[in-house]
Amino acid sequence: MKLNCILKTILSFLLFFGFSSILNAQQTVDILITNGHILTMDSGLTEYPNGFLAIKDNKIIEIGPHSKTQLFTATKVLDVEGDLVLPGFINTHTHVSMTLFRSLGDDVEDRLHGYIFPLEKEFVSREMVYLGAELGNLEMLKGGVTTYADMYYFEDEVAKAVDQIGMRAVLGQTVIKYPQADAKTAEEGIAYAEKFIKKYKNHPRITPAFAPHGPYTNTTETLQKIAELSLKYDVPVLTHLAESKKEQDVIAQRSNGLSPIAYLESIGVLNKNLVGAHVILANEQDIAILKKYHVGVAHNLSANIKAAKGVAPVVEMLKQGVDVGLGTDGPMSGNTISLMDEFSQVAKVQKQWNKDRSLMPAVEVIKMATMGSANVLNQGDSIGSLEVGKLADIIVIGTKSANMTPIYNPYSAIVYSAYATDVRHSIVDGKLLMEDRKALTIDEDDVIKRAYEFSLKVKQALISQGKPIL
Ligand SMILES: [Zn+2]
Repeated sequence: MKLNCILKTILSFLLFFGFSSILNAQQTVDILITNGHILTMDSGLTEYPNGFLAIKDNKIIEIGPHSKTQLFTATKVLDVEGDLVLPGFINTHTHVSMTLFRSLGDDVEDRLHGYIFPLEKEFVSREMVYLGAELGNLEMLKGGVTTYADMYYFEDEVAKAVDQIGMRAVLGQTVIKYPQADAKTAEEGIAYAEKFIKKYKNHPRITPAFAPHGPYTNTTETLQKIAELSLKYDVPVLTHLAESKKEQDVIAQRSNGLSPIAYLESIGVLNKNLVGAHVILANEQDIAILKKYHVGVAHNLSANIKAAKGVAPVVEMLKQGVDVGLGTDGPMSGNTISLMDEFSQVAKVQKQWNKDRSLMPAVEVIKMATMGSANVLNQGDSIGSLEVGKLADIIVIGTKSANMTPIYNPYSAIVYSAYATDVRHSIVDGKLLMEDRKALTIDEDDVIKRAYEFSLKVKQALISQGKPIL
């Protein structure tokens, strides 16, 4: 009996000190995600079917199988109960503030001149841009987008809204040769953009950029000036490119028959800073030029086909090694700006267009939405995949809804059966911005109420002009 007691005491001591040493060895982090099916989207597509991820400050400091979870303790533990953990999605092209005009003139042939331009002339203001950005940010955050690239007017107002909600963004100040609310000429637009760039150049989450609307809506001199300044400030240039027959005709006339892409090469404005949105009308030579100058492409499938503009040669571009990411275009074109609504269409349209069911498998779509998009924005070193040392931009997609049951192939489930509303948590720059679908850094009800009130003003204006609300 005595011996038993002594042995028990020794064992208790050993257990206590063993446990204490584990506790002492534990590293304290800010957020610990446990029990996740982690899809890292790294170059080897590493997965941890039951894994954990540790976040400290704004970075991922460890990631691995569940067995290592005990090495960490955290202020905030998110047990995600088998749900999918991925890098946040990256929307490479939108006009976020146009959310306030969404669902107007969708099926009208000349929607641009009939609705968009007149509406923008009457309503674009600092207040409108800010409110539209708040609404769009909310929609994107709740749909799994953690970073987006935007082109619009008063882009400093979009920046304020992004700063407030805590998302990441590349924000391009529009330059166009027609008078707009924030600049009467392209020169004024460039001056506005330079001021904006200087103000936000060192922001941790906002990358300011130039956004010449398109090659055909700017002069050669303007495009060259912007390219020169973008190299000086080392900032991106966002533009619509090879999008329409009209653009093709205007540029061919200006350049003795060159395609828009060949024309941009001929005037010396192509480099890695350029992101071309749409790129529908690109032949083999055009694709080779994009590859040669490391130009990124934002693929906006649903907007392209809704406007009957054609199907971009995405399969060919990827084959040639061009960086291609996904975008939604503006909400008067897309119409949703959550990238997840694009996924299934991106895969299906390429299959149909190329008459090959095996083309554009689900995993390729997710690659484009994450690392592909990060590379397009020249941020592949810091975002786009879940890897130690990268910024903590992370989403969790729920797997308990009827549409997400069962899951054999997680990429397939996300691309073909998930809804944007399946996104459960969202973390940007190491901060939890949405938990169990509740946005934490913005008052959702208040934003929606103010956006609704704005829409009443638009309706009233259309009625007083005798314009049908279509
Ligand atoms: Zn666009």
